[in-house]
Amino acid sequence: MKVLVGVKRVLDPQVKARVKADGSAVDLTNAKMSMNPFDENAVEEAIRLKEAGQVEEIVTLSIGPEKAQETLRQSLAMGADRAIHVVTEQVLEPLAVAKVFQHLVAQEQPGLVLVGKQAIDDDCNQTGQMLAALLGWAQSTFTSKLKLEGETATTLREIDGGLDRISVRMPAVVTVDLRLNEPRYATLPNVMKAKKKPLQKIVLDELGLDVAPRLVTLEVMEPEARSAGVLVDSVEQLVDKLRNEARVI
Ligand code: AMP
Repeated sequence: MKVLVGVKRVLDPQVKARVKADGSAVDLTNAKMSMNPFDENAVEEAIRLKEAGQVEEIVTLSIGPEKAQETLRQSLAMGADRAIHVVTEQVLEPLAVAKVFQHLVAQEQPGLVLVGKQAIDDDCNQTGQMLAALLGWAQSTFTSKLKLEGETATTLREIDGGLDRISVRMPAVVTVDLRLNEPRYATLPNVMKAKKKPLQKIVLDELGLDVAPRLVTLEVMEPEARSAGVLVDSVEQLVDKLRNEARVI
């Protein structure tokens, strides 16, 4: 079985986002970029399935600017076999991303698609769900455990107040949560080997898909500044402050 894994290039999670002066978007000029953290879990899971003999080939897919190649190379250094880069300077909404995935699913015929539960830049949490709908496939979202048996995937899903265990028919779309696994670091020899692994480039416009935006961003704002915390000397003082200053108890 082949697995297709989504890897998005996003602002590094350790970097503080700065908003452009005109409030139109987050300023990414010279910012450190990384693979979306949930996508690292997705790549790691695909590698573990391959190591367990349940998967023959791992193909990673990134849709984005030239530099998204670095993210794909990272996935190859972790252990993916092959990468596909759909090149575009446009920022795509989840529906458009799902359509690109749908196109490549038709071409690659994977038995499983793994994507992150959400991209930490747009926080949409929509791509996997939209892709499953477009394909008419089963889906497991917020997945923190994945077990494949024949035509079935059994998963644990993190839901409010507990865990949900479900079984879905393959082929399926699985969106993954951080607790699924601990992603491996790429070793230097594997980084070198990754440079020679196949990376196919496709120009988005040549796919002829309708990727026009459906939403208009009205404004992007910095979060409100938080006032500094205070250190208290005793539990009594803490309770007093909570009761009389914050008035929360
Ligand atoms: P979202 O619906 O935007 O929160 O994204 C959910 C997941 O879809 C991400 O964690 C990625 O696995 C995948 N995804 C979204 N956008 C892209 C992209 N441009 N390239 C590759 N994968 C993507």
